[in-house]
Amino acid sequence: MRVFKGKKVIIYQLNSGRFALDGGAMFGIVPKVLWEKLIKPDERNRIPMATHPLLVKTHKGYVLIESGLGSGWDDKFKDIYDVVEEDPFKDAPIGREEVSLIIQTHLHFDHAGELVSKDGEYKYRCQVVVQHFEWMDALYPHERSRASYPQGRIKPLESHLMLVSGYSEVWEDIFVLRTGGHTRGHQIIIIKDDDRMFVFVGDVIPTKHHAPLPYVMGYDLYPEEMLMIRKNLYGLFIKENAVIFTPHDREPFAGYLTVDERGKYRLVEVEPDEVINGS
Ligand SMILES: [Zn+2]
Repeated sequence: MRVFKGKKVIIYQLNSGRFALDGGAMFGIVPKVLWEKLIKPDERNRIPMATHPLLVKTHKGYVLIESGLGSGWDDKFKDIYDVVEEDPFKDAPIGREEVSLIIQTHLHFDHAGELVSKDGEYKYRCQVVVQHFEWMDALYPHERSRASYPQGRIKPLESHLMLVSGYSEVWEDIFVLRTGGHTRGHQIIIIKDDDRMFVFVGDVIPTKHHAPLPYVMGYDLYPEEMLMIRKNLYGLFIKENAVIFTPHDREPFAGYLTVDERGKYRLVEVEPDEVINGS
């Protein structure tokens, strides 16, 4: 587990399971001859990924930014996605029962699966913040999104939701902003820490390799919208010198966004202040 110390908050970057997804789908229109130089696929063309939620310690309590992949998946699912389960609270300073608020970028299984046990039980005591659009689409998925919203882990959330629309301050100095692009209701989470900004970008930039503008996933339901929102957000991230946390790098990642003279964006790694138990 990695620790980042802000002025007002402490951010714990957790490990909530490893998995792998089809490399072609992860890189959209980018040809394999290019992306395989960045990240090597396995013999089934899958690239190694993971889920890294953030636990944010504030003066009012702990806020969990996503829960990750979680555990209790069946053998067929584990085989398709090469799942290795991890308990995100293994090294954490608190247990699940002490989390005061959970904020999800969206409800795909690799971001929200951990919220509910395999028996359909919600594992926390607090509310879960999602956008109205995301809840509608998770509850009534269509043919292209159904596999991402296993209903056994969606329906139990119903009585624990805090639904928001657009831009909202959901906790002191913690904001959500609907981006769309990946899903209609996808949102990012912005933490304002005095003069600094921390951002959990979710699937706007799924891994450190996805920073260039056209590196938009085939999994995105609205790829053109994703390109437009990236153009808007990237300017803000650079202006604010934001520390950006990506959700899906196999090894946990945080970095600053930079742009070169040809307009190519890149993430430059920021080292954590502390590493606990070597991961
Ligand atoms: Zn994702």
